[in-house]
Amino acid sequence: MAGTLLKVEGLSKTFGGLAAVRDLSFELREGEIVGLIGPNGAGKSTAFNMISGSLAPTAGKIVFAGEDITGRKPSHVVRHGLARTFQSATVYPKSTVQENIYRGALCHFDIPVWAQIARTSAYRDALDRVRHDVDKVLEITGLAAYRHEIAGELAYGHQKRIGVAIGLATNPRLLLLDEPAAGLNPEECAEFGRLLKTLRDEHRISLLFVEHHMALVMGTCEKIIVLVQGQKIAQGTAEEIRNSPAVIEAYLGV
Ligand code: ADP
Ligand code: MG
Repeated sequence: MAGTLLKVEGLSKTFGGLAAVRDLSFELREGEIVGLIGPNGAGKSTAFNMISGSLAPTAGKIVFAGEDITGRKPSHVVRHGLARTFQSATVYPKSTVQENIYRGALCHFDIPVWAQIARTSAYRDALDRVRHDVDKVLEITGLAAYRHEIAGELAYGHQKRIGVAIGLATNPRLLLLDEPAAGLNPEECAEFGRLLKTLRDEHRISLLFVEHHMALVMGTCEKIIVLVQGQKIAQGTAEEIRNSPAVIEAYLGV
């Protein structure tokens, strides 16, 4: 059995008086696809923001690939092999697909403009890491044929793939995807599920994703975590989640 890649222990975040995430613990093993589901406001994005380093936890610990990354900056976490995509498709609509991937991926490394101009070693390292992979990433995400097209003019399904491509271009071991299939039609959604499986099966990338499309979650994830009002109420396989009385009651509202 593969080792633990990500371990989250007692993770909490309060905003003023509101506990957005409460005492969340779970593990993700190398090569696993894990889904995080729950109603709006459950704390899914907040959990993602803490794991990827853009939000400091109020309490708890995050260990990735053996290193305690709690409270580390996103640019540190990304160098360590953990990348994320954002809920909104953050693309530069007037630039080409290829430029979007370069620029978007470089953003993850948070290199100041002066360092880019001075071509510091940190900038050259980041550039090498990104450049190395862009062709492969275009191929994997099915965007190779569109590389010179203007991003904002692509079909929505392809625009959503740019977000994934940007995350992949940082060369991650674990990719966090926040609602990657939002707004996709069922056919695009099924295609997206195949992309996720390819990433894991052929490119050895572990995945943690938040998604509302239940068919996609149930058909893709080995493990599903259910959050309601900041708390984990269930965890298990698709089958276990479907049959969990706590989930049926609290989440599905049946
Ligand atoms: P989800 O992604 O599951 O829809 P979020 O993590 O975005 O949920 O939000 C969880 C709760 O935390 C919500 O009640 C939301 O209003 C609140 N929240 C999220 N971010 C902030 C913030 N920066 N400041 C204050 N409250 C926030
Ligand atoms: Mg969210």
